[in-house]
Amino acid sequence: MGDRPSSLARNREQTANPQEQLFDTHPEVSLDFEVVRQAARQKYTRPFLIIDTAIVREKMRRFRAAMPRVRPHYAVKANPDRRVLKVLAQEGAGFEIASTAELDLLLPLGVPAADVFFSNPMRSREANAYAAAKGVRWFVVDSVDELRRMHAVDPAACLYLRIATPNIGSDWPLSGKFGAGAAEAREIVAIAAKLGADLAGVTFHAGSQCRNPENWRVGIEKARTLFDAMAKAGLRPRLLDIGGGFPVRHVKPIPSIEVIGAVVNEALQAFPEDVQVIAEPGRYLVSDAGYFVCRVLGSATRAGKRWMHWDAGLFGGVIETTEGLKYKIRTDRSGPDIAWHVAGPTCDSVDVVMRDEPLPSDLQEGDFIYIRNAGAYTTAYASGFNGFPLPEVRVFESRPR
Ligand SMILES: *Cc1c(COP(=O)(O)O)cnc(C)c1O
Repeated sequence: MGDRPSSLARNREQTANPQEQLFDTHPEVSLDFEVVRQAARQKYTRPFLIIDTAIVREKMRRFRAAMPRVRPHYAVKANPDRRVLKVLAQEGAGFEIASTAELDLLLPLGVPAADVFFSNPMRSREANAYAAAKGVRWFVVDSVDELRRMHAVDPAACLYLRIATPNIGSDWPLSGKFGAGAAEAREIVAIAAKLGADLAGVTFHAGSQCRNPENWRVGIEKARTLFDAMAKAGLRPRLLDIGGGFPVRHVKPIPSIEVIGAVVNEALQAFPEDVQVIAEPGRYLVSDAGYFVCRVLGSATRAGKRWMHWDAGLFGGVIETTEGLKYKIRTDRSGPDIAWHVAGPTCDSVDVVMRDEPLPSDLQEGDFIYIRNAGAYTTAYASGFNGFPLPEVRVFESRPR
């Protein structure tokens, strides 16, 4: 728990500044660094992600306490490890999937198909038919094309409409890709009513690692307006899905889940009690539970620049750095820091993890690299490109904290 004392100290300093008080209002958790270090020393054959499921449980409970009306449906893509999915199911999570393969991971764990929401807005006819036959009931749409395709496969399916909302202040703005605009939404509502399709909900995504709680307020308000339009068209709106995007601590300050929850809870008052409300957190539930550990392969000086190569790079799971995420990285060296270019082990020129990252000057072959809060979007992305092995996933559960 190396980070706790310092983040608490920071909290105290910040009470003087109301603007900054928005951030760091609750100490975030991380996997115990000493446990990680020992795990690496005991045995190392390839890069690994170590996950403490006690933290996953804690994050579930904290999410539910912050937003009592909102049931979290975990976004499987963030970390599809079966042991993690099982713990989330035990804690009462529903799930959000993008593919039938993700559905096939969940059903053998005893997850009821009705608890699985298919939130990928563009699916094959076969995927729609397969999921419907397995008992999935809720399917997202953001196009007339998908509406017609889904309706043809299962006219009784419950559909929810993904709308475009602002992604201001998110590290991964997503709305540019998915989400119907106002005019398209009107068209989808009109066609659903004409077809007799059960278009019964609204969803949006605030953007991943969203550090701006206002995105949820705006999304919920837009959904409220659309509910009225749907009812007017003769539809029966009854599901609000506030999406994912809930942030985790890395280097930049984040609003706590309690701060976001306050915004969400207030905005939800505009919806009658019988409206079902869900969210789709991915990153929030699993990131802090994990450390990603890899090793320095070697170093080089190229055009006067210091390079180090790790045994895991973009293709080995350390890929979110390329989109601007700054992880907190620990080592067993003490520096002083210099600016390193960090590359993965493959020969692809794209396999550069970070440029000019301050890390200890004395790092060398065999040294461990410990990446904090890396339980989401690491192993899930890894491929066997160039013959390097997939990272191992080690899962344990520490005693209740
Ligand atoms: C990826 C995704 C999520 C999860 O996003 P996080 O930022 O990890 O919370 C939720 N819903 C949908 C539709 C997604 O594609």
